[in-house]
Amino acid sequence: MPHATTRQRIMLELAQNRKSENGTPQSIPSYFSCNCFNDRVMRERLPKEVYKKLRATIQRGEKLDMSIADTVAHAMKEWALSKGVSHFCHWFQPQTGLTAEKHDAFIEVDEEGAVIERFRGEQLVQGEPDASSFPSGGMRSTFEARGYTMWDPSSPAFIIEGPRTNILCIPSVFISYTGEALDKKTPLLRSMESLSQAALRVLRIFGNSVATRVITTAGTEQEYFLIDKAFFNLRPDLRSTGRTLLGAMPPKGQQMEDHYFGSIKERVLAFMQDTEIELYKLGVPVKTRHNEVAPNQFEMAPIFADANVATDRNHLTMEVMKKVADRHGLALLLHEKPFAGVNGSGKHNNWSLSDSEGNNLLEPGKTPEENLQFLVFLAAVLRAVYYYGDLLRASIASANNDHRLGANEAPPAIMSVFLGTQLSAILDAIKSGRAAKITEEYIIDLGVSKLPAILRDYTDRNRTSPFAFTGNKFEFRAIGSSASVSLPNVILNAAVADSLEIIVAEIEKELGKQGDFNTVVMQVVRKHIRESESIRFDGNNYSIEWEQEAARRNLPNIKNTAYALDALVAPKNVEMLTRQRVFTIGEIESRYHTKLEQYIKTLEIEADTLLHMINLMVIPAAIAYQAQLVGAIRGLRDLAELAGEVSCSGEVALLKQVTNAIEVLRSKGEELIRALDKVDGIDDASRKAKFIADHIVPLMSGLRKPADELEHIVADDLWPLPRYSEMLFMI
Ligand code: ADP
Ligand code: MG
Repeated sequence: MPHATTRQRIMLELAQNRKSENGTPQSIPSYFSCNCFNDRVMRERLPKEVYKKLRATIQRGEKLDMSIADTVAHAMKEWALSKGVSHFCHWFQPQTGLTAEKHDAFIEVDEEGAVIERFRGEQLVQGEPDASSFPSGGMRSTFEARGYTMWDPSSPAFIIEGPRTNILCIPSVFISYTGEALDKKTPLLRSMESLSQAALRVLRIFGNSVATRVITTAGTEQEYFLIDKAFFNLRPDLRSTGRTLLGAMPPKGQQMEDHYFGSIKERVLAFMQDTEIELYKLGVPVKTRHNEVAPNQFEMAPIFADANVATDRNHLTMEVMKKVADRHGLALLLHEKPFAGVNGSGKHNNWSLSDSEGNNLLEPGKTPEENLQFLVFLAAVLRAVYYYGDLLRASIASANNDHRLGANEAPPAIMSVFLGTQLSAILDAIKSGRAAKITEEYIIDLGVSKLPAILRDYTDRNRTSPFAFTGNKFEFRAIGSSASVSLPNVILNAAVADSLEIIVAEIEKELGKQGDFNTVVMQVVRKHIRESESIRFDGNNYSIEWEQEAARRNLPNIKNTAYALDALVAPKNVEMLTRQRVFTIGEIESRYHTKLEQYIKTLEIEADTLLHMINLMVIPAAIAYQAQLVGAIRGLRDLAELAGEVSCSGEVALLKQVTNAIEVLRSKGEELIRALDKVDGIDDASRKAKFIADHIVPLMSGLRKPADELEHIVADDLWPLPRYSEMLFMI
């Protein structure tokens, strides 16, 4: 190929089919968790008494006994040094960005000027990064720049391998000098505590005096795209926004549906396996991998863990994936909608509750009594989604996720709950039940006693619901692929805790009036099943009929982040969140402002990048093609003069099309620039975000159209941007 363009050269290289070398496979148990300061290592390396105290802290969520900190730090350091670690860092989750780390070497200089490696208890427990550059959403005034990181012993420390030496990462919370949460982990830990307390109250009224804690469990299914890094590098939009702002649909998209669960291509498999090896070393039990619906889209899922650890592991997973992809010459796209018109990526958050004895509280039991308890938890979740659906919607809101929610493959922005035919039938029976006294037979008649059998072989799995009951857990599917699962879990935990407390209080009050426990519980459950009925929906959530039905049911359907975020500061929501002690008012407002800011910045960067690409890439390519056409028309006209009967009407028609598209691009570009100027003039962040949603977003899609039309007509060797058909199908 004599004049191959960069794009064409990449495609030729891809065809050379780089094979990855095959290492000798090792059994997973032989190296699993080798870079993780887990329970086994602690037991081996700590004096028995210290180990017992630390374990109590971890298991019972107790405060760390500071007298053991030095011993733990020393053991951790010795372990780390044996693994080639030179530096440690407090690893935390500020409100923007995924994770943050500031490295410090273990070294100290002694009086003789020699260097020794030391790690003190206070260094393990507390760090003091300069907090001034992290977003606080206006919570901290600038003169109060101090923030602390504090070790979270409930999530194990781990080692990240560097190119030369390794780094010991200590999962930490990040709080301000005055004790307010600046991060995503603190509220999660608080919400897990609230939920534990509320759930224990339920267990107690059911006579359980054994359980000491209730743990929120989470399993995160991570979707992502992989494309060749060379394509990625050629696209300014992917580089600066994570998604393609332009790009014509390929002749073959995902219509054939031949990718889902298809055999995994070798280059991708090599990436997946290397990622898994890295994650196994860190103690992340990734279990499942498969092709997703869209071409070059995949999924990876771990075995669930307590929600705090699961959240940390998901952060780690995203980081490791990015690193390994890069090593393989691939670009990892975690964006919720990297390609318009193609399936987007989400992160399913499987969520349940487990007591300290390991019993899953969303698993129906064997006896009618146990099933009654299950129904209380179920009613609480329904109540939580019914009252706080708007807040759950806000918790998953981002500029990225706006492209995905409500697109034809993702759950809509309407929060509803799927329960499945049989469980729904039981709830309907309970709802309409008139019996005053709830006898054993009555429970059996309702089908409640048969719950486990029914749920075990449930067959109707609705994949379109944003929030689905899947046998013994709920699956919150509306979370975006690049997002932290922290806030959605915080909101869910807080709302369910609140509902449990209300339900328990109602049961206790009724029990004071009348004696029969089953009858009282059933009455309260029935009340909440009735009240929350409108959020139950088992049909196709992607359909227009559901949107209409949801409107009739008065369910909120907030299509974009700018409006969805209002729920974060709605009085009823602020009341609940503060009542549950997961946020202070200041902390909520700070999240609200940070999220608005992120939305605004994301869209501003996207708009600027789009204009840049139109002006510097698309229009020049069109002009080059225009020049070719003009040359051809001129030549053909000359020829016609000489020889007669030569038509150039095709070329003229094409020229008109190209010229027209350039004109439209120019005028729509100017319009976008004028609108962006207006954005600058708006002070209030919420108004600004709403203006962007209402005006900038539509202008951007309007600007995209003529560019995508040009992609279909401009000569291939003049088109500078990798196409969808290349990025999505070549790897
Ligand atoms: P799917 O069919 O949606 O892929 P899976 O059964 O594979 O569902 O489970 C998906 C995720 O749910 C996994 O990460 C799994 O570990 C997690 N999961 C299973 N049980 C629980 C639970 N009790 N709590 C939280 N997550 C769970
Ligand atoms: Mg799933």
